[in-house]
Amino acid sequence: MNGHDDGAASIGQALHELVADLYPLCRSITGDGLRQTLRRIARHIPLTIEEVPTGTPVLDWTVPNEWTIRDAWVADASGGRVIDFQRSNLHVMSYSAPVRATMTLAELRPHLFTLPEQPDRIPYRTSYYREAWGFCLTHRQLQALPEGTYDVCIDATLAPGTLSYGECYLPGATPAEVLLSTHACHPSLGNDNLSGVAVATRLAAHLAALPRRRYSYRVLFVPGTIGAITWLARNEHRLHHVTHGLVLACLGDRGRITYKKSRRGTAEIDAVVAHVLAASGDAHDVVDFRPYGYDERQFCSPGFDLPVGCLTRTPPGRFPEYHTSADDLDFVRPESLADSFEKLCAVLTTLERNAVYVNRSPRGEPQLGRRGLYRSIGGDDAAAEELALLWVLNLSDGHHSLLAIAERAGYPFETIWRAATRLQEHGLLAPARPS
Ligand code: ZN
Repeated sequence: MNGHDDGAASIGQALHELVADLYPLCRSITGDGLRQTLRRIARHIPLTIEEVPTGTPVLDWTVPNEWTIRDAWVADASGGRVIDFQRSNLHVMSYSAPVRATMTLAELRPHLFTLPEQPDRIPYRTSYYREAWGFCLTHRQLQALPEGTYDVCIDATLAPGTLSYGECYLPGATPAEVLLSTHACHPSLGNDNLSGVAVATRLAAHLAALPRRRYSYRVLFVPGTIGAITWLARNEHRLHHVTHGLVLACLGDRGRITYKKSRRGTAEIDAVVAHVLAASGDAHDVVDFRPYGYDERQFCSPGFDLPVGCLTRTPPGRFPEYHTSADDLDFVRPESLADSFEKLCAVLTTLERNAVYVNRSPRGEPQLGRRGLYRSIGGDDAAAEELALLWVLNLSDGHHSLLAIAERAGYPFETIWRAATRLQEHGLLAPARPS
């Protein structure tokens, strides 16, 4: 193993440990599980936890009641718990209204949810915006329930409280922002959504430790849909700063990376992610925007149309473990988490370095040999490095970014960026506009 692999292994392990730390908490779109999750994230990064009161109007929505779940079970006539929230928080439908009743299996049956095609897995079900109650269980558990009467209890409260979300803001040299957002509202599920939470947390820690940031960064940990809508409603006045953005989710399964472009489709973030994935040499997919998925739906709604794409490995709903108890700690792979994190670091580094320059000696080629820039480099890459100088000088007319030059020349961004750095050191290149 070389040093790079050692680093990836330890990053993967640290990411998986964070997933495992957060896994037991019973998160939902509001409530203490979400709040505790944010507090644990705040041990790693400078996080502001916002609390927005129930009833607050947010765009076309209203912040809902807060859900507090203490216990839930179905017990048979002998008092034995045949469905028990204490064994898995997936057993109670998220946002279930409180209930305390004795009923027959036939009466209980409409409130029981299973996956007949995956009979050993507990489904994940929610009822956020319609008051209801229910239990989720394996199909085998259901089939084993005898006729008879059952005691049913969901010890929960749905009452005015707050919606919590977390925000980590890291100022840079410019107020132009890179927005990173992940949903943090699912209970004991690993890939969807704790992989995104863990990778976003580590990215924020990585960015916070950088000696210099060109961009400012805002990393959001929000309950899905309502959290993004709440954040947008409270931040409309500063959305013009959002220059690039990514929604992060499902980053820990074994599948290849999938990048879903922003609604615009031609944003700089779209070009940067596509370039980084192609340069990695790893199998990947780049797909067009569509208005379902995660919170890119909100950021890319037509009234905002922010340049925000979505990075996952296997997209939501495309893996059989999705929204079931099989999306557990084993399904999330340390090596996949590390690979997702490293590719995201490459994306952010490319964003930081991509800029438009002007050739300061544009009439004829400047004499590179006199400046020690030509035939001065040894090794196999020398020819490519020299050609890169010529590409940068020729296309740096104030209109082509370094990424555009890399794409047109067919070079990795790194090579073009190195060439631009050398030309700047020799006074042959200057930023087209200050950044
Ligand atoms: Zn989900």
